[in-house]
Amino acid sequence: MEEKRFIIPFFISHLGCPHHCIYCDQGVIARPVAATAPTAPEIAAEVERYLRLGRLKNRAGRQVQVAFYGGTFTALPVEIQEGLLRAVGPFLKEGVVHSLRVSTRPDALSPARLEVLASNHVATVELGVQSMTDEVLRRSRRGYGSEQAREAVREVLRLGLEAGVQLMVGLPGESAETFAKTVEDVIRLRPHFVRLYPTIVIRGTGLEQWFRAGDYRPLTLEEAVAISKEALKRFRAAEIPVIRIGLQPTPTLPASIVAGPYHPAFRQVVEGALLYEQAVALLAAHKGSPGIPTTFIVAPQDISTFYGEGRANIRRLCEVFDLREIRVRPDPLQGRGTLALWAV
Ligand code: SF4
Repeated sequence: MEEKRFIIPFFISHLGCPHHCIYCDQGVIARPVAATAPTAPEIAAEVERYLRLGRLKNRAGRQVQVAFYGGTFTALPVEIQEGLLRAVGPFLKEGVVHSLRVSTRPDALSPARLEVLASNHVATVELGVQSMTDEVLRRSRRGYGSEQAREAVREVLRLGLEAGVQLMVGLPGESAETFAKTVEDVIRLRPHFVRLYPTIVIRGTGLEQWFRAGDYRPLTLEEAVAISKEALKRFRAAEIPVIRIGLQPTPTLPASIVAGPYHPAFRQVVEGALLYEQAVALLAAHKGSPGIPTTFIVAPQDISTFYGEGRANIRRLCEVFDLREIRVRPDPLQGRGTLALWAV
């Protein structure tokens, strides 16, 4: 369902956020609300532009959702929240937009604030939970504890809205073990979807100071991929869609990165690692038997992910299992994210 939706995004950077999370550069780029919030005519023009886009012509059956990302939506003054949400009203009435989505923090929700959302056609609330480990939340200066985060997700679900949970891999004090517990905690809450972001040291943040002082060690790319891969495995097994893994690459992002496991195709690297793991298990089951099958069946969309960067996965498999070659056969009937060995 999630994948079938067409999102028209508005990024309202840091509006209304009074916090100082250790990894956030809002101190550097924060601007007054009035200077950054789009006006109703601007919203209308942008929605119309998206609706005119060629790719939307073919949107039969797809739900269209307008999303207000970034910042802490529900901490904005109510009149600004309502102004933004109501600007989409005519499109909802016309039936060309079906619902709204906002992102916010777990401690910026209350029954009254949720009521504003629900009465203005918001169907989806994304919560920047980041971790379910209290010590990690404290060290990251998030300003709330894990119980408040749990309660916020439950509250959104109780109102019959869709809940999305954003998590960060590699925050200060987080280990692979504590993050695995966070994942289990989130699975128990049964949100509708999850996003996973690796923690990157951004210029101008408190985390940059800690990094330069030697008080914070970012994850290596390999570590971040391994932790994210385990999380993806668990969420898939629990049938909770992971709709994003990795930061959205923007033109300005690379220049602001000081350190950390940034990769422009982070999701593909994580999914490639998961396919590699499956391939190892399949080949290991045949190890020692004569005529070990060496042709993998893969969904056509997964071929380059399975190969890995520069065919790294294939080369490693050949080395580890002492094989001369490995063949890959696309099969549209093979499930995405899964592999089979062609045994004849
Ligand atoms: S709540 Fe979000 S916008 Fe505010 S400081 Fe933290 S990360 Fe930045």
